Amino acid sequence: MPDDIQKARELVGNAGRILVFTGAGVSTGSGIPDFRGPDGAWTHREPVLYQDFVNSTRAKVEYWRYKADTFPAFLAAAPNAAHRAIAALEKTGRLLKVVTQNIDNLHRAAGTGPDRLVELHGSGLYAECLECLNWVSMETAIKSFNTDGAPPQCACGGWLKPAVVMFGEPMEKESLMKAFKAAESCDLAIAVGSSLSVEPAASVPLAAKAIGKPYIIVNQGPTAHDKAADIKLDGDACELLPLLLG
Ligand code: NAD
Repeated sequence: MPDDIQKARELVGNAGRILVFTGAGVSTGSGIPDFRGPDGAWTHREPVLYQDFVNSTRAKVEYWRYKADTFPAFLAAAPNAAHRAIAALEKTGRLLKVVTQNIDNLHRAAGTGPDRLVELHGSGLYAECLECLNWVSMETAIKSFNTDGAPPQCACGGWLKPAVVMFGEPMEKESLMKAFKAAESCDLAIAVGSSLSVEPAASVPLAAKAIGKPYIIVNQGPTAHDKAADIKLDGDACELLPLLLG
């Protein structure tokens, strides 16, 4: 086993309260592309900003079209070896929290308990009414969009928005507070499959490092925190996480 993996395993073995922070790269092995990768959304589209979505019918249609195009792959995805390794760590009693930027429900599907999970960017399984704040299933909202090509509406007449945090939209304070609390009280932070460039989420594992906790990064390619990490493992999360946490 390579030296850096061995050293990282020692840090994991010595830790009793582990914070795992995940990004889109933890789910590419399940067939959901990350935004910045070769099949990612940013290769062929610009993000729709929250303010534009709220104010413009054209932006609503553009965003719903993107969601309708990507929803079938999203629904078909199943957890991979990386999600399962994190769920297995919970069974040992040493997982403090999984703080995820992902909206794909795959940590839950792998068995991560709801009390252990903080979904910073919401859930892609639901849409939320901008007026009455009611939630409806994403499947229902997308069926409506696919029927007439119009942005779906709630029974109250308000516009529905996917229940995920859009670029330019403020994040829910409670989730962010839970995430930073976990960063304070963990004794090891591990970031997996994230470029660590989307703020404020990326500051969560860095907050642990800033108060002296060891920091391991598992990612294919560079991240914004490579210099801060105690150990960086460059490669596929599906291969590396079972080695690291098993
Ligand atoms: P990102 O696109 O910034 O970074 C993903 C990183 O993962 C990249 O550095 C990439 O090289 C790496 N990666 C890809 N496949 C990997 C693998 N198999 N093993 C290890 N690393 C791998 O994604 P991000 O930092 O998570 O942030 C972008 C935003 O996109 C987030 O806010 C998130 O909400 C959203 N997003 C979520 C999903 C999802 O729910 N699955 C998918 C796409 C984007």
